[in-house]
Amino acid sequence: MRKLIAVALLGFITACTSTTEQPSKSRPGFTAVRSADSALAAYSRVSKRMEPLSEQICRSIHANKPRTFCDFQVKVINDPKLPPNAFQTIGKDGRPIIAFNINILRSFNNDDELAFVFAHEAGHQIAQHIEKSQANALAGAVLGGILVAVAGGDAQVGVDIGGSVGGRSYSKKFELQADTIAAHITDRSGYNAKRGAKVYERVGGSSALLATHPPSSERVARVSSTLKQIDAAKAQGRRAPIAW
Ligand SMILES: [Zn+2]
Repeated sequence: MRKLIAVALLGFITACTSTTEQPSKSRPGFTAVRSADSALAAYSRVSKRMEPLSEQICRSIHANKPRTFCDFQVKVINDPKLPPNAFQTIGKDGRPIIAFNINILRSFNNDDELAFVFAHEAGHQIAQHIEKSQANALAGAVLGGILVAVAGGDAQVGVDIGGSVGGRSYSKKFELQADTIAAHITDRSGYNAKRGAKVYERVGGSSALLATHPPSSERVARVSSTLKQIDAAKAQGRRAPIAW
């Protein structure tokens, strides 16, 4: 039962830059700014550079993990009805998947934004957020069940609510960690991380983001402070280590 709850929560916890509304002109952050063909061309171009680099960085950090852990599969979900989204998950074969749907690809203003979101999703894998979210969801589920049982309520309802609250509160921290890693990977790729992180300014306003995501200003600030550390290291002739 516990495992079922954790699995059901996964999609929710790991969904990034997702919105609950349908794409429309009323959501300025996700207006399509380019054709599907142009979006797919950008995806191919950026993935070609970002995928090997993300794998290389992942392997340098997780040298002891099985090879599949850093063997990213990158996918496009070409369904124009889906609201703009990008996410990271684990495939049945154990390999991490980074997926973009066509509407988020059509919303990117430039390759830097695409590269930054790519690096952010890779960051979730590098920081092992799915594994950690499962652990947190379980801890929350157990706690919620105990609280309701003591109060004489329906323990099953408590388990469901507790699990979702546990996942939500931890994932804010995880989003910022993924942004930190994204700043490093994007900078090393040669794309412009500062320009890429502007994707958050466009999706700005808490209404456009899931409750699991921190306010845009916090994310932009995190990227800026990480880039300052990267630049300070460069000025001293060294490369900032990737820490989050
Ligand atoms: Zn994320």
